Amino acid sequence: MLQLYVPLNFLGVMYRELKQSLVDVDKMFTLLHSEPDIADADDARELVVKDGRIEFKHVDFSYMENRQILHDVSFTVEPNTTTAIVGKSGAGKSTLSRLLFRFYDIQSGEILIDGQSVKDVTQLSLRKAIGIVPQDTVLFNDSLGYNIAYGRPDATPDDIMAAAQAAHLGDFLKRLPEGLETPVGERGLKISGGEKQRVAIARTLLKNTPILIFDEATSALDSHAEKAIQSAFDDAAKNRTTLIVAHRLSTIVYADQILVLNDGRIVERGTHAELLAKNGEYTAMWAAQQDEQGSIGV
Ligand code: ADP
Ligand code: MG
Repeated sequence: MLQLYVPLNFLGVMYRELKQSLVDVDKMFTLLHSEPDIADADDARELVVKDGRIEFKHVDFSYMENRQILHDVSFTVEPNTTTAIVGKSGAGKSTLSRLLFRFYDIQSGEILIDGQSVKDVTQLSLRKAIGIVPQDTVLFNDSLGYNIAYGRPDATPDDIMAAAQAAHLGDFLKRLPEGLETPVGERGLKISGGEKQRVAIARTLLKNTPILIFDEATSALDSHAEKAIQSAFDDAAKNRTTLIVAHRLSTIVYADQILVLNDGRIVERGTHAELLAKNGEYTAMWAAQQDEQGSIGV
């Protein structure tokens, strides 16, 4: 028993870490097959994504008793539009994406994709429908091509190349004599933060999901590197339902809808122009970031 207990416990720890950072949803899923406390309903069906509409309806959520994280959160992301979520660290932004993946069950309310509750569909079909580019991408000690194809093992070299191009890695690859075969990691290529995130975008594009989440995907980059990959993001978001959690507001100015989250409550919502006109929390955040940029000369 003891022998069994130790590795299982270790897996548990690893699992929680993976879940926390949303690093590798696919790997985690195949590794452990299913979430220990979240199980498919007996009559769970495959999620069918026709349009890609996401709805949160009166969602209340806590990770632990006595500490409610989300309070009556309601919003809709219309198909093929982009919704940005902004707010202080700890506001509950990443929690929203964890709930969309159904890593946890909510205490009340509903989360729907094209009218189907995430509770009523198989977790496998749910997780297949959503691609995420997290803040810190994990690259494997393998070739660049492997790192892009990871998650779509059946991808052909042409598929991989097309995804790399779409993620604006084309020029980068041209400079590498071995191209997609170039090893990355400890003994291989040193890769910049911006290139790493482009690999993550390529990986997610190759997965070709109708729903896309960027969770502070550019927060670790300086604003120059961020600008350089902005068009890769914009291209990826085309024809997909996209949720962007952003730190720098300049990157989400064109979002169809911006939600301002404060302590688990949506306190303001609208387009960039509408929110500025409200002269509330968003305006204060915007002004603070303009000052920051002015003072460090970017
Ligand atoms: P954000 O992404 O906006 O920075 P999160 O959604 O990650 O915030 O977290 C919201 C709140 O939930 C924070 O107070 C955080 O400490 C708490 N929290 C996050 N994950 C867990 C967890 N696994 N268990 C308990 N509390 C958590
Ligand atoms: Mg977060």
